[in-house]
Amino acid sequence: MKTTKISEQELLTQQEYTGKVASLFADRRPLAHIRTYGCQQNEADSERIAGMAEAMGYTVTEDEKEADLIVVNTCAVREHAELKALSITGQFKHLKARKPSLLIGICGCMVSQEHRKNDIKMRYPYVDFLFGTSMLYRFPEIVYRALTEKSRAFYSDDSEGNIAEGLPVRRESRFKAWVSIMYGCNNFCTYCVVPYVRGRERSREKDDILREVRELAASGCREITLLGQNVNSYAPEGTPGYGFADLLTDICAIEGDFLVRFMTSHPKDASHRLIDVIAANPKIARQFHLPLQSGSNRVLQAMNRRYTAEHYIELVEYMREKIPDIAITSDIIVGFPTETEEDFSETLNVLRTVRYDNIYSFIFSPRNATPAAKMENQIDDAVKSERFARLLEVQNEISRAQNERYLGRNVRVLVEGRSKTNAGLLTGRSSQNRLVHFAGEDALIGTFTDVFITGADTHTMTGTLKQGEEQ
Ligand code: SAH
Ligand code: SF4
Repeated sequence: MKTTKISEQELLTQQEYTGKVASLFADRRPLAHIRTYGCQQNEADSERIAGMAEAMGYTVTEDEKEADLIVVNTCAVREHAELKALSITGQFKHLKARKPSLLIGICGCMVSQEHRKNDIKMRYPYVDFLFGTSMLYRFPEIVYRALTEKSRAFYSDDSEGNIAEGLPVRRESRFKAWVSIMYGCNNFCTYCVVPYVRGRERSREKDDILREVRELAASGCREITLLGQNVNSYAPEGTPGYGFADLLTDICAIEGDFLVRFMTSHPKDASHRLIDVIAANPKIARQFHLPLQSGSNRVLQAMNRRYTAEHYIELVEYMREKIPDIAITSDIIVGFPTETEEDFSETLNVLRTVRYDNIYSFIFSPRNATPAAKMENQIDDAVKSERFARLLEVQNEISRAQNERYLGRNVRVLVEGRSKTNAGLLTGRSSQNRLVHFAGEDALIGTFTDVFITGADTHTMTGTLKQGEEQ
């Protein structure tokens, strides 16, 4: 399949719409509020939406009550995420009643599903526009039409997806950045809605990515996270044979003191070569997110994951041998249809064998249009919840023990800001992506700093600035 790159001409058309919106507000700066649900890809998309909104003359606000434009960027991976987005949209209704000129739009994965689109058309009449993930670049046109045509508009995705380069961006952080390297997914894991809502897999050209990383590094960015549903199948059409390991090597050659993270890797595609590249490059964070989903080969097959627990463990062993200080994290689904107690205990066994630093665990949520939703032997909610609790219990003990290994050691962290949970303390992340709380000055925010670890919990560590670091 040929990737559709959005043409220069089309991007210019959108710039014209940007100017037209700005001219509608010649007398004042309108306010835009953007609410984001879901994964890092959605956060990255919202930064583009915010960038385009600013280019149109909007100022981004945290306060939805004063906004002239509200955009809800939604997630569809689990039902819970959809219900949250619908509930918040419902709460915006009274804002529109108070200020009829308010525009409300919904975008993202949830509205790329036909049934949700229809649902919103019928039951949320105060929503002015919807657009799916592949329509992101047309945001200026969508806003202009909503402001001038006064009729509701629902934009459908193009079926294969596309790539739009050079959209404006308003990054949330001045020292951390997301860089999407590819979009969509071809894997069709049987539980997952992503291939249906984000289209087919397509990779950005390497030169576009390297240019963006170079600019970020030059502007003092300290952490760059490369995003893709399966970064290991990165394959730009313009450079046949060039893969993710090559891209990482080229990124590490860019000058600057920055750390590179990436997510997500699919165990069927993560290669020894990739692991060797990480081992050889200190700029790459010592963290590998490798979703297992289940430890049972029978369930893995039913999920269409195309690897076995044995293959997975072999990869982990190779990683630990080559990069001893690597932190390994994972996604686990409990209660996939047909999962027996024995299947579940095999998942627990892999947890105990691998000893993850952390896991993200999910209760299986049937998704419209996916094969797993129609499978027989769906698991009872009570059984799912009980297994979920047991999974956490096993993992929490392992996470705590993994954190305790750092007690009495110095750890280099990127200082992110003030902690929300531990008022007054700074919070940072180690190369292993572990959270560290410690006392220090605001001036340290956005810098790499060494912290001496004095306490370790399940999810966080505490420490003190290494002697000689404090001014
Ligand atoms: N592309 C990434 C994951 C995207 S979705 C990958 O393959 O790793 C993020 C996580 O949500 C998945 O890893 C999976 O654990 C979880 N997930 C996806 N669909 C789900 C569903 N229907 N029910 C519960 N969890 C789900
Ligand atoms: Fe979903 Fe599987 Fe693709 Fe990940 S690899 S986005 S879990 S289909």
